[in-house]
Amino acid sequence: MKKHFLEWFLALFYCGCNLPFTLILMQNANQSTFCVAQSYDTLDYLKSIWPKFLSSGVRIFKMSKKRILFVINPISGGKKKTAFNKQVLEVLDLNRFDPTFKITDHANHGYELATAAVEEGYDAVVAVGGDGTINEIGSALVNTDTPLGIIPEGSGNGLALYLGVPMNESAALRRINRMESTAIDCGKIGDRYFFNVAGLGFDASVSDKFASETFRGPVGYLRTVINVMSNYKPRKYSLEIDGETYEREAFMISVANSPQYGNNAYIAPNASVNDGVLDVCIVRKFPLYTLPLMVFHLFNRTVNQSEYVEIISGKKILIRQDEEAPVHLDGEPMDLGKEISIEVQKNALRIIS
Ligand SMILES: [Mg+2]
Repeated sequence: MKKHFLEWFLALFYCGCNLPFTLILMQNANQSTFCVAQSYDTLDYLKSIWPKFLSSGVRIFKMSKKRILFVINPISGGKKKTAFNKQVLEVLDLNRFDPTFKITDHANHGYELATAAVEEGYDAVVAVGGDGTINEIGSALVNTDTPLGIIPEGSGNGLALYLGVPMNESAALRRINRMESTAIDCGKIGDRYFFNVAGLGFDASVSDKFASETFRGPVGYLRTVINVMSNYKPRKYSLEIDGETYEREAFMISVANSPQYGNNAYIAPNASVNDGVLDVCIVRKFPLYTLPLMVFHLFNRTVNQSEYVEIISGKKILIRQDEEAPVHLDGEPMDLGKEISIEVQKNALRIIS
């Protein structure tokens, strides 16, 4: 050990200047294992300047590459993704990562692929799509050690915008290269999860209608919003939030984990994915002439200042609606009956940040 002290010190110093790179474990003749931050290029450099160092009883164990599964939603955001694989091979550090690509071709396929990836020991699963794709994949990764990466390719990209994931494909891939992850909260309804926003009422009806539209993208979404708004009626809801009861007639109720729907429309400006609570945003019926002001509030992050909006945060939320109507989870519509029980799961999903 002492004999090699200088070599170890110099190697660590050299590698310290080059962090972060692939880890290579090194073991000396006495079986003392060292862990030095290394790249394969650095290893070649060491071999060239220190042939003695590498022939003096030191064995080198290269860490295997991390396996990343890219799950691509080919229809999200109305964008073609035919060049995506090529872009990954150009930007991803292939010295450290071994990418696999899979394309979703039916509803919930992302969940199935991500579940299999966890079982097969992948080191990360990357959602290439919008909030709906993130929802399917993230649901399979909740309470596992496998982090979720995001390449934003959706219509709204609410969670990605909130988390500061670059909208540029190449920049988002460079973030995957860092492979640093952080835990975020998620919302749970029965055995389903949401990571961005869930909702009842108007926005759920919009999601329900938008799901059957062939005209996707932000313009298609706006067109659906206008169509649904023209004949939408508010409904009665009974809410229980952390034991308190509220009776409300509402245009819509959103339950926000992160603050925005997407496209920088903030439905719950103070929501955070790290505070252990969900923000329940109750929007009362508002006169049509105030619509421009509501839209302004949404994009100005001041919706909580509107006289038609009430926001209550809580960990356990029970919402009873007077008739069966669709609920959306991260923009994906579903029928969950009249009584919807929601709770927060703190730090349940790891995200590559
Ligand atoms: Mg929160």
